Amino acid sequence: MRFEVPDVRDVVMRILEVEDSFGDTKQDIYQCLQNHRRRIERNKQLVTASEYMQVLRIFLPDLLIRGISGEAGSKVHEELKKHIKEDSGLRTDVYQQVLEKASYRWGIPKGVQLIEGVVRILRDEYGWDWERYFEEAEAEKETNFISDKLLKVKYIGFKVRDLALSNFNANYAANDLHVVRVITRLGFLNYGYELLHDNSLEMGTDSAKRKNYLFLHGLILRLSALTGDEFSPSDLDRVLWHFGKSLCGARPRCGYCPVAEICPTGASRIGKL
Ligand code: SF4
Repeated sequence: MRFEVPDVRDVVMRILEVEDSFGDTKQDIYQCLQNHRRRIERNKQLVTASEYMQVLRIFLPDLLIRGISGEAGSKVHEELKKHIKEDSGLRTDVYQQVLEKASYRWGIPKGVQLIEGVVRILRDEYGWDWERYFEEAEAEKETNFISDKLLKVKYIGFKVRDLALSNFNANYAANDLHVVRVITRLGFLNYGYELLHDNSLEMGTDSAKRKNYLFLHGLILRLSALTGDEFSPSDLDRVLWHFGKSLCGARPRCGYCPVAEICPTGASRIGKL
């Protein structure tokens, strides 16, 4: 059995036309991508303008999503906006209140501990200089910013940290289940062989495993490069995530898929492989 690995840009261009079935608004994935790009640009302006509390309120909710199990961070974000407007709101009792009102389901003491850890690092070690933090993230994008002090805070792993970073830096993506599933079905893991000279990573799709996660991070940078940088890693992440939610989910709908004729899984499922 032989198959060709599809061209990354070709796949993305086809996927952009798919209607996104996630959320209430009817739009195609191209529009989701544009909204995502605009959001990153707006967030970057907040960093440049030293709006450090606003940046914190955008960054924190994603860190609080443990294991990315489908909990949207919007409730936490809303409550943070209401209760943490200035430095005086950076208190344990306020964090508790925020999480209670947002019906935070991963354990309020754990959430409070996480927020305290993040605030301690950004306030005491960075003096709220988010720009410096994001510059460090950019400088270490190839190695997934493993020196990040936030990774020492209990309950913060690569996945949630990268989700939070992806609001501000297009070189980061969370590599969640939906994205990794689509990447695997399309045969894109095959583009990762040239990363394997590095012993700190290992080809695999279990993003809970450090070596697999680092492989997936390297892979999405490589896929982005294969589009000639037309699509950033976070563009690819958003596009594949919405596609995974809309067409290529647990039960892929290959018969309706614009990628079926070049996708190895699709070709197999519709009997052309
Ligand atoms: S053809 Fe099927 S498996 Fe391949 S991308 Fe489309 S829905 Fe997914």
